[in-house]
Amino acid sequence: MKSTPKKKVVVLGSGFAALSFLKNIDLDLLNVTVVSPRNHFIFTPLLPSTTVGTIEFRSIIEPIRSVRSNVEYFQAECTAIDVKKRVIRCEGQFDRKEFKLNYDILVMAVGASVNTYGVPGVKEHALFLKELSDARAIRQRIVECFEQAAQPMVSSEEQDRLLHFVVVGGGPTGVEFAAEVHDFLEEDIRRIYRELSAKVSILLLEATEHILSTFDAALSDYTARLFKRQNIQLRTGSLVTKIDAKNIYLKDKTRIPYGLVVWTAGVGPQPLVKTLTLEKDSFSRLQTDGFFQVSGAQGLYALGDCATPRGQNFPATAQVAQQEGKYLAQMLSKRERGLPVKPFQYRHYGMLAYVGSNRALADLAAVKGKGFSTWLFWRSAYLTRLVSFKNKVLVVFDWFKTLVFGRDISRF
Ligand SMILES: Cc1cc2nc3c(=O)[nH]c(=O)nc-3n(C[C@H](O)[C@H](O)[C@H](O)COP(=O)(O)OP(=O)(O)OC[C@H]3O[C@@H](n4cnc5c(N)ncnc54)[C@H](O)[C@@H]3O)c2cc1C
Repeated sequence: MKSTPKKKVVVLGSGFAALSFLKNIDLDLLNVTVVSPRNHFIFTPLLPSTTVGTIEFRSIIEPIRSVRSNVEYFQAECTAIDVKKRVIRCEGQFDRKEFKLNYDILVMAVGASVNTYGVPGVKEHALFLKELSDARAIRQRIVECFEQAAQPMVSSEEQDRLLHFVVVGGGPTGVEFAAEVHDFLEEDIRRIYRELSAKVSILLLEATEHILSTFDAALSDYTARLFKRQNIQLRTGSLVTKIDAKNIYLKDKTRIPYGLVVWTAGVGPQPLVKTLTLEKDSFSRLQTDGFFQVSGAQGLYALGDCATPRGQNFPATAQVAQQEGKYLAQMLSKRERGLPVKPFQYRHYGMLAYVGSNRALADLAAVKGKGFSTWLFWRSAYLTRLVSFKNKVLVVFDWFKTLVFGRDISRF
């Protein structure tokens, strides 16, 4: 008897949803090809720690080729999807040459992109915190600001500007980044740049009235009080209207000189998602059914930050993307075997955030934790969630290295 050939699954992306899908898909039943401009997975919850060198860049990444053998990978960006013919167009990362791939099943896990809300100057002057290259650029810029401010001909006013570090966006990423800069300042900068350290200031700008609005209000208030003690200035209700090479402008006409500005104010759709004329929600995420199938596009599934099941408003988090990726892999495997399938059910495990000075927040269903013991929990939780044994060893080693030797401030 002639056996039916395996269906061809193409996965777009190498983030949380794609990785979880790859780990759980049955390769005896389906052929899998991954297309992503990034040839590695990034454990983003620890990305803010890499911006100041608490953790090294390579400790939180895993090459996508190491995740599963027998999976084909192309370092390329998908630029168009022909949902009728089930063909995607891709652009290679090296020479931008185009190629096409057919699929039976397309898994879109392309995530989200940074949302600048069209504010003039953000793209040109602010740094983002999404990829490792962003973290590296921030780390370079921080050291650059100190070395530049230490030059003999620099005026006191210019030193103040260079050493003013501004974060736009009071969500978990902005808060964690401000906390990491604070630790860097307290634990290393005061010792290394003695004369300059008194001039350093950190400012967190938030457009709404509260930071960490997705957390319990008591935890958000605790963070605001802690930031005050840590000399991290907080300006809520502050809408940025423009950024130029040296200043940030607010709606209330305030001008804020800066040396570094990091934009963590929100996410928006990826360019590929924008090209698709399929059903989307008010955040421009693709709408799917409870099985992540996009309506009007046979064989197209979308999950993670780029999509949400109709009637649901799942947050753009790693835990959502991870659960969705696992579910979709298991669901497709079951379907191939002719077994019945149930729609996806999200399980919320809670949220964690680092707030500086060895303190963290845990907003869990049963407990609202904060402080030092929560920080120990935060570290152990993320350690267990890191992808590989190698990552876990490297991160523990980096934490130990930072504790003993401090953070490295070399600029190269
Ligand atoms: C600094 C930071 C800290 C965070 N901390 C936390 C946290 O503590 N807890 C938490 O739950 N969440 C956290 N998040 C959010 C979490 O990282 C995202 O929700 C999660 O990564 C979404 O997974 P995803 O697979 O949908 O997208 P991503 O992980 O963003 O992956 C998208 C992938 O698609 C690829 N791609 C993009 N365009 C294309 C294309 N056209 N063709 C092919 N591939 C493409 C990208 O290169 C990438 O590999 C954090 C995010 C950031 C940036």
